[in-house]
This record gives sequence, C-alpha cells and structure tokens, in this order.
Amino acid sequence: MNSKNNSIPILSRLILFCQPPKAYALQIARFQPRWSEIWFKKDVDRLGLSLFSVKLRFVNMGFLMVCTWGIQACGSEDDHSVADTPITDDPSDLVEVEFPQLIWPLDHQLHDKVYISNYVDLDSDENQTRDYACAFQHTYDGHTGTDFALLNFRVMDQGVGVVAVAPSVVTWTEDFNYDRNYWQPFQGSHNGVVVEYPDKSFTAYAHMRTHSIAVKVGETVEAGDFLGFVGSSGTTPIPHLHLANRDKNNQVVEAYTGACRQGDSFWTSQTAYVGNTLRIYDADVFLDFELIGGFQFGEIRTFKDRPLAPAVYGIDQPKLGLWVQVQGNSGQEFSIEVKKPDGAVFVKEDVSLETKRRYGWYGFNWGFDSVTSEDFGVWTINISGGGRRVRNQLRSWA
Ligand SMILES: [Zn+2]
Repeated sequence: MNSKNNSIPILSRLILFCQPPKAYALQIARFQPRWSEIWFKKDVDRLGLSLFSVKLRFVNMGFLMVCTWGIQACGSEDDHSVADTPITDDPSDLVEVEFPQLIWPLDHQLHDKVYISNYVDLDSDENQTRDYACAFQHTYDGHTGTDFALLNFRVMDQGVGVVAVAPSVVTWTEDFNYDRNYWQPFQGSHNGVVVEYPDKSFTAYAHMRTHSIAVKVGETVEAGDFLGFVGSSGTTPIPHLHLANRDKNNQVVEAYTGACRQGDSFWTSQTAYVGNTLRIYDADVFLDFELIGGFQFGEIRTFKDRPLAPAVYGIDQPKLGLWVQVQGNSGQEFSIEVKKPDGAVFVKEDVSLETKRRYGWYGFNWGFDSVTSEDFGVWTINISGGGRRVRNQLRSWA
C-alpha cells in the first residue's frame, strides 16, 4: 500500500486568485512529460502591468492550468450620487468626525457564509494602502468602504439580507441593473440604496441584487430594517455589499477604530480585525470534467458558484480534484490530508500562501487511477489552517 502511495504524484495544481491590483493576467499552459520545471512569463496585459514570472515545479506529465488574476473588488461609488472625494492622508484628521452608531449590515453574521474582503484604504497616496489597523493591508488602493462578501453565488441565490445600519431616510435607490457580474467587463451599473442621517452624513449600500430593494426614496428606516439582498451588480467580481459611509462634508468615514483610525468606533459592536489571520472558509472535492479540457479564464466562475461535489467519487474519475477557499497572508500555511478507508495516507501536503489573499481559491488534483477495489469505502479529507479544520468525507466506489 505504501509503495503505491509513494508512486502517486501530484499531477497538477491550479491556482485561482482574486486579488487586486487593478489588472489581471491569465496563463494557460500545456506541459510535456519531459518537462520537470518551467518558467512562465505573463504577457504584458492590456492594463500595462510589467512582466511577471512564476516558477512552477511539477513532477509528472499532466495538464496544468494556472489562472491568476486580480481586479477591483468594487468601486461603484462613482456609479451614483456619491462623489469621489479624496481621503485624508492624516489618520488623525478622522478623529473628530461625527457619525451615527452602526449595527452589522447583514442578516448573516461574520464568518457565517460572510467574510470581509476589504476595509477602507486610509492612505490617499496612489499605490499605497493603509487599513484602520495599520496592519496587513486588508484593502486596496483607493477603496472607500467596507466589503462584506458572500462565500459564493449560491449563497447569493439563497438570499442574504442587507439591513439598515442606523435610523435614516432613504435618498436614492436603483434596482434594475444586472446583478451577476463575475469578472470584467462588468455589465451595467449597480443596484443600491443611499440613506441620509439628520446631519447630512450618509451611508451607501452598493452591489445589491436586482429587484430586491424594499425601500423607496423618502422612506424612513430604523436600524435593522430590511433593505434588500446582497448581489453582484456593478463593478464587482464577487457577490458582496460595499458599505460606504461619508460625513456631512462628504469625507470618507472608516467606522472601524484601530491604530490607524483613532477615536471611537462607529460600530455598536465592532467585529475583530480579519486581516491578520489565515482562515479556511470552504473546501470540497470536484469532478474531473472541471479539470480537463480548455480551462479558461472565465471558468473561475465554477469556483465562485461552488463546484458540485459528488456523493460518490467513482472509479472512472482519473483524478481526485480538491479546492480550498481561503483568506490569509503571505507565508501563512494550510495543510491537506487525504486518507483512504483503511487510514493510509493518500495525500499529505502543506501549502504556503505566496502572497496576501483577501479571498481566493486554490485547486489541486491527484491521480486517482491507481485506486483499486481495496480502496473502496469512506475516505477522509482534512483541510486545516488558522485553527480551523474543514473535514469532508468522501465515498469511493466503482
Ligand atoms: Zn468596496
């Protein structure tokens, strides 16, 4: 058994990232058996990125697809009445801002199918970022709100409610735009709601689902009132709520308080900073058809939709595919362990994040054709990291 295990190579690994900066790149390559190591050079993309190279090592023939990309997670404030005003470069300037106390904006709590992919960028300098914690840059350049993201589009389809964060009056809504953007070019503007507070400060709720908005201009809402559903309308590659707060002078307000945003929090209950920890959000197996045959850039949609996981992994599958949805920083690690029904280790692998991932998917596949009838039964899959373990059992049969 062991000798057979040792003979099972890692055939390929596909890596899917969704990570700004404001450009993306795509690499698709077909390996030849004789190659044991290869260098890729990314084409200079249409947005003018400099050349980029990634060294990939692999140990056997196979079809390797690498898709790395990064695009703005949002940026739709310009789509409506919220003017784009510069953010102060001095964190202390934000201390004196007055703003209402805010409640959590969704009907799902943080880490319940919801994660934070971006905070406000408090550094006004181009190409420099600083989040409120002065820590791990859990933001991107020029970002003016907090992004509350859903794990995948299935969660969006199930409906995650957006609720009013404070008592306010609705001053703007739009509800008819396309709401299923996965990647560039993004279709249409975004659906959303803007509410105003008595001192003329305001909050914008952006990227909402089409025909889901439940309030009208002029309506008064209380904290917790349902406004509509999270969507993926406008400039966004994932379903998320962009919550943007502005004071009465139209200056960006970061509600979170920390080392780089002094003063009181504007949250009634501020959630812990998420930028410093690795977190495994989701993971599962996927089928061979998602591994072979012209994997294209757009097919990252497969992961954003959450791939279908089979109840039984049949012997006809030549590869065992596994994906992991993760958030973490460069150098942080997660581990993968796949065991056969008799407890023998089929795969054990530690994965180190090459760079910060505010969100992203890692995909793996290993040859499955060596599995014999002795291996039929319940397999155990553990993906662990950041103190969290995603356990998944899988039945294998002919
Ligand atoms: Zn945003």
